Amino acid sequence: MEPVNAAQFLCPHCSAEVAAAAEVCPHCGARLTSPAPPPEKRDLLDNRWVVLGLLFLATGALGLPFLWRSKGFTPVGKVVVGVIVTIYTAALIALAAWAVWWAWRSMQEAFA
Ligand SMILES: [Zn+2]
Repeated sequence: MEPVNAAQFLCPHCSAEVAAAAEVCPHCGARLTSPAPPPEKRDLLDNRWVVLGLLFLATGALGLPFLWRSKGFTPVGKVVVGVIVTIYTAALIALAAWAVWWAWRSMQEAFA
């Protein structure tokens, strides 16, 4: 069936315009119900909360490709979240480096 507009289709048999909801062509009687299209595979990553949870709790900036593929964000939203996640990841790395340095210093003082 060729979509004519949102509400009408062309009958594949007689090319008459028929309502999209019609199961049978009123002109030639052909059945119009095509085999059900496969349900749109809803990607888990299209859920913005799944992506945000993944980025902030698991992958950090490494998960940016997931963000880019997700349909749950606008292009601007992706850039904003991408920048935030990158800063967040850098801050975490800095914090971890500081913690290691601090632990190292503490050990040196303790055993000096
Ligand atoms: Zn027809």
